[in-house]
Amino acid sequence: MPFHEPVDAALVPRFAGHATFMRLPALSDPTGLDVAILGIPWDGGTTNRPGARHGPREVRNQSSLMRRVHHVSGTAPYERLRVADLGDLAVQPIDLMAALAQIESGIAAVCAAGARPLSVGGDHLTTLPVLRAIHKAAPTRGPLGLVQFDAHSDTNDSYFGGNRYTHGTPFRRAIEEGILDPRRMVQIGIRGSVYAADEHQWAQDQGIRIIYIEEFARRGADQISAEIRMLMGDAPCYVTFDIDSIDPAMAPGTGTPEIGGLTTREAQALVRGLSGLNILGADVVEVSPPFDVGGITALTGATMLFELLCVLAETR
Ligand code: MN
Ligand code: MN
Repeated sequence: MPFHEPVDAALVPRFAGHATFMRLPALSDPTGLDVAILGIPWDGGTTNRPGARHGPREVRNQSSLMRRVHHVSGTAPYERLRVADLGDLAVQPIDLMAALAQIESGIAAVCAAGARPLSVGGDHLTTLPVLRAIHKAAPTRGPLGLVQFDAHSDTNDSYFGGNRYTHGTPFRRAIEEGILDPRRMVQIGIRGSVYAADEHQWAQDQGIRIIYIEEFARRGADQISAEIRMLMGDAPCYVTFDIDSIDPAMAPGTGTPEIGGLTTREAQALVRGLSGLNILGADVVEVSPPFDVGGITALTGATMLFELLCVLAETR
């Protein structure tokens, strides 16, 4: 299979043509790909403001602004990896458990083809079936590490009278299912008011490293990145980027905004700090275009997607 390249912006203007992720070819078969970028347009796990189901389409649109080479690392991902836009998983919006099964089987097909998934949500519950599929396909079948950018821990037990599957619960479920090793989990950017003073106690008891935004502000990206790399080591991990980790002044288009967040520049520095880790897949979630302003949140999502793609290119 050839190395796919984005449409040349010197020949076809960025605003012309069909919108695909990074202006890459749209393929329906992941065979031969190293990384499959795909959309998961589903927000049935959302507990507050919806709209993340519209995320993939707008991130595709804004990703037309991405170019080919990372301006700091010099990484040219399309020269190292066979990457394409695999389209959206056709997830039905009504039956939550059926939707999770559809997402898992869609990602399983990507893994079976030997490609790593780089997905765009969708709300954060989409990450649970993605992790299930990656974990089943991983050669070691051992629990994975997780680097989670988020304003929220997403380790609550249930919502609205015992509903255990929401975008506030995926990582508790993944730990219970043996998919994630909580001692190799780090959550960065956590902040905002909580339901109860001990809301994060369960997560901390499991051994999850919660880096509140205040600690990040004190210590900075270099120190935090070094700690993350030490925690992850050489073992397989997954990277999940909830756009609400970014301050809503810079990324307003999301369902559960919390002020006092990461700047886009800080988030970029942190993702670059993941270079060299053994990353099996990654995602950008919770971009909600109906709450966006001028496409700024979708642009932030598209840019973080490019940052993640470059890190994936540096790990193989
Ligand atoms: Mn989240
Ligand atoms: Mn969040």
